[in-house]
Amino acid sequence: MFTVRPTSYGGRGCFATAPIAEGTVVHRAPAPFTSAVNRDFRKEVCAYCFHYDLGRTMKVRFPRASLWFCSDDCRANWVAHEDDVCRGLVSDVLERIDNAVAKARKTMQLGRGIAEPSAEYDVDYVPDDVILDGSPESADEIEQVWQTIAQRIEPAAPAASNPLKNPLLKVRLLALEEIEWDSARLVAVALVRKYLEEEEESTAAESRKLPDHFLWSKFYSLESHEVDLLARVPALLESHVRVFLFLLAVMPPALLPHVTIANVRAVVSREAANAFGIWQLPLSSESEFLGSAIFPSGSYFNHSCEPNVAKSRVGRSMHFTTTRDIAPDEELCISYGMMLDQPVDSRRETLKEQWYFDCGCVRCARELAEANSSNSSG
Ligand SMILES: [Zn+2]
Ligand SMILES: [Zn+2]
Repeated sequence: MFTVRPTSYGGRGCFATAPIAEGTVVHRAPAPFTSAVNRDFRKEVCAYCFHYDLGRTMKVRFPRASLWFCSDDCRANWVAHEDDVCRGLVSDVLERIDNAVAKARKTMQLGRGIAEPSAEYDVDYVPDDVILDGSPESADEIEQVWQTIAQRIEPAAPAASNPLKNPLLKVRLLALEEIEWDSARLVAVALVRKYLEEEEESTAAESRKLPDHFLWSKFYSLESHEVDLLARVPALLESHVRVFLFLLAVMPPALLPHVTIANVRAVVSREAANAFGIWQLPLSSESEFLGSAIFPSGSYFNHSCEPNVAKSRVGRSMHFTTTRDIAPDEELCISYGMMLDQPVDSRRETLKEQWYFDCGCVRCARELAEANSSNSSG
């Protein structure tokens, strides 16, 4: 129905290979590669179908990790399609993260304050001199920060020992902020997929279980926006460092070789412009923002301010449906956000700020030309 190929304006896009009628579902992304329900909402949003019942607590709980479901069916589906297919590693890493967070909270409530890093490890917790004062100006400066972190953690590399006994653990956990916990879960699940994909590469093709939408290689082919992201929100660099150190402390030993600076950076920098919001349904301007999900196959659709494809979440899956008839060779475009009612200038500003591009869609071209001609005639 459509093919993914380079566009005339850079990057890839989806182009119709034949006429497509209005109302056709051109693509279904069955489940996110990775996702995280915002911590605030974790009891109120079904971890499988993302159903939100106006703030009511979900009925069914997963025994270990802090996961809530709207029904036994959703829990069974989550176990089968998320956890079993990943050999129980998803529930394992989520449980470890939740336990660590609970432990950190308890320590805080007891008023023990932040533990000093152990002298045994000649390494500070994200030392002040590592993080830049202003915003990182370039890829080089970001590189430098990470290199310093790499050098300092080397003596404390926990791979051989039990990472949960790492004396730095407490310090790392106490410093983690709410939004970083969400980020840690999203990154951890991505690293589980990476581990499994590499494991499966060494097995016979017939016995591979990991579905296409869980492939790290597909996710990795998405564009990274690290420099743009950190220029806009410099404080995130320190957050990324903290998430990395946190995961190093809590991930199961088998996964530790994948908890590398490169991998963590790969996830957070791709999440930046590729994540789809998990919004309360039915979608309206009042909808709550419940979390983020990454659907790599859905990220091939470019933005247009006059989209011909609508994205809609159906439970855990994302559907892409044409909103008018499409001619062969026409590009299939969605709208990235809810900014289409804005005038051309602010719309383009939003796109630049949140998705890092100058919109060159037909509607922007038309409205910019109109604005120019009315300026010159007035
Ligand atoms: Zn559900
Ligand atoms: Zn536009």
